[in-house]
Amino acid sequence: MAVFERIAVIGAGLIGASIALAARESGAANVIALYDANAEVRQRARELGLGDVSDDPEGAVAQADLVVLAVPVGAMGAAAAACARGLKAGAIVTDVGSVKQAVVEAVSAALPSHAYFVPGHPLAGTEHSGPDAGFATLFHNRWQILTPLKHDRADYAAAVDRLEDFWHALGANVERMDAERHDVVLAVTSHLPHLIAFNIVAMAEDLESVTESEVVKYSASGFRDFTRIAASDPTMWRDVFLNNKDAVLEVLGRFSEDLAALQRAIRWGEGDALYALFDRARRMRREVIEAGQDTAAPNFGRDRS
Ligand code: NAP
Repeated sequence: MAVFERIAVIGAGLIGASIALAARESGAANVIALYDANAEVRQRARELGLGDVSDDPEGAVAQADLVVLAVPVGAMGAAAAACARGLKAGAIVTDVGSVKQAVVEAVSAALPSHAYFVPGHPLAGTEHSGPDAGFATLFHNRWQILTPLKHDRADYAAAVDRLEDFWHALGANVERMDAERHDVVLAVTSHLPHLIAFNIVAMAEDLESVTESEVVKYSASGFRDFTRIAASDPTMWRDVFLNNKDAVLEVLGRFSEDLAALQRAIRWGEGDALYALFDRARRMRREVIEAGQDTAAPNFGRDRS
C-alpha cells in the first residue's frame, strides 16, 4: 500500500532517480513527479520513464504529499525556495544532503510554515552521478538517517513517522539522530575517507618520479580502490567540504596527528606499534562485514576475470 499518494523529486541525478525508481517499484507512492534544473537531465529522465517530469519546480510539487530535495548540498536552499510557493498545506519536505546542519539552516529559511521539513540522508550511493546511474535497489539494507527538527507539535511527529514508513518501504533501515552528531559521524565515516582518496590520487598524478602510466598500470594494488572513491562527483564533494567545515577540520586535525605518530613509528622501526594499529584496523573491517555493510568476498566480490 502506498505511503504517499503523490511525491515530487527535485533533482533527478543518482539519488533522485533511485528514489523515483524505488518508490515506483515498491509501491510507496502512486504518482511520482520530478523536476531538475538541467534541461538535458529532464529530457533523460523522461526517456528513462522515471515519472511525470515537469519543466518548473512549482508545477512538480503542486499537490505533492512528499517533496524530496535531491540536489547538491550548496543548491538545497535555492531548490527549496523555487518550490516554496507551490507547496500544499501539510506537505512533508525532506532532503538527501550529505551534510545536515547547513542544509537545515538553508532549507528552513526558504520554506513556508505550512510545510513540515524533516531532514534526511541516505547512507547509500555510488561514485556515479546523473539519472542513468539510478537504480531501484540502491537503498536496500542501507541506513537512512533522519535528523528531525525540534518541534513540540504532534503533527510534526506524525510527519516524521510517515517519512520513516516511506524509507522502510524503499528497503532502508531508519535511524534518527541530531544534525550536529550526524555531521561529526559522517565526517569520520565518509567525508575524511573521500578527502584522503582525492588527495592520494591527485598526489600520485603529481609525483614526478612515478609516471602516470606506471600508476595506472600497477593500480591493481590498494591504489585502485582509492581511484573508485576519487571518481565521485566534484560538485557534490566541493559542497560537502564547504558546508561541513568545522567537523571535517576537527577530524582532519586528529587524523594528521595520528599520521605523524605513524610516520614516527616507521622512522624509529617501532614494529610493535605498527602491528598493534594494523591489527586494530583489521578488526574494524570484520565489524563492518558482520554489520552487513560490505561483503567478505575477496577483492570486494569483484569478478577477477
Ligand atoms: P547528481 O547525480 O549530480 O544529481 C543532482 C542533480 O540536481 C543534477 O542533475 C543537477 O543538475 C540538479 N540540480 C542542481 N541544482 C538544482 C536546483 N537548484 N534545482 C533542481 N535541480 C538541481 O547528484 P547525486 O549524487 O544524486 O547527489 C544529490 C544529493 O544527494 C547531494 O546533496 C548529495 O550530497 C546527496 N547524496 C549523494 C550520495 C552519493 O553517493 N552520490 C549519497 C548520499 C547522499 P546539474 O547537473 O546541472 O548541476
